[in-house]
Amino acid sequence: MFKTHEECLVYLEKIRWNGTPICPYCGSDKATMYKNEHRYRCNSCFTSYSVTVGTIFHQTHVDLRKWFQAILLLCKLNRDISVRKLAQEIHVNRATASLMVSRIRNTSPEQTEILMKIIEISEE
Ligand SMILES: [Zn+2]
Repeated sequence: MFKTHEECLVYLEKIRWNGTPICPYCGSDKATMYKNEHRYRCNSCFTSYSVTVGTIFHQTHVDLRKWFQAILLLCKLNRDISVRKLAQEIHVNRATASLMVSRIRNTSPEQTEILMKIIEISEE
């Protein structure tokens, strides 16, 4: 398992981009990385972004380790887990847990592969 939020980000970058950041706003693969932040600035449309933009993780302010745990629980270990139980397990409030459950259950097909890979690595 990953020890920090940053390690999760690095892993997400690897499985989503395979080494080349793609701007989620214009599709450009030309970007400048901000130092040590895992954020990028698009050289075409000048928007800044991170790997979570456009994914289920976007704008939740939840540590990615908790997201990874939630995905493993909901998709594999305990598919029927309640929002209340999930909130207890990963230490988030109920509103956050509820949002996470609905996003995980409504994952778009293109993101399903990302979830699969997160499950794989979380089980190791
Ligand atoms: Zn762009």
